[in-house]
Amino acid sequence: MNMPASQCRHCGRLFHNGKSHCSGCDRDSLDPVDLSGKGNVYSYTEIYAAPKRFVQQAPYLIVLVEMEHGLRVTGRMLNRPVQIGERVELHKVEDHCYYFAAL
Ligand SMILES: [Zn+2]
Repeated sequence: MNMPASQCRHCGRLFHNGKSHCSGCDRDSLDPVDLSGKGNVYSYTEIYAAPKRFVQQAPYLIVLVEMEHGLRVTGRMLNRPVQIGERVELHKVEDHCYYFAAL
């Protein structure tokens, strides 16, 4: 799926969270955009000692993904094992968390 994001009308800077204010040019000029949900795994870690609300899901993988459009986002990886450089795609967004799957 595509990644919901925001882009500044003035300087073109991209943001992956639901902001309305651009920290690049200091204006309230962000418009919602749909970006490619594809990217490559830049780094990852496996969580064994999870926060209370995720205990049932542990162990699970957290990935840092370098997206095709240049943003780096943190999310959960649905497949395992995972490798640095692996091609992944955004699978869903739930509770403000990005879930990635191998391509
Ligand atoms: Zn801007």
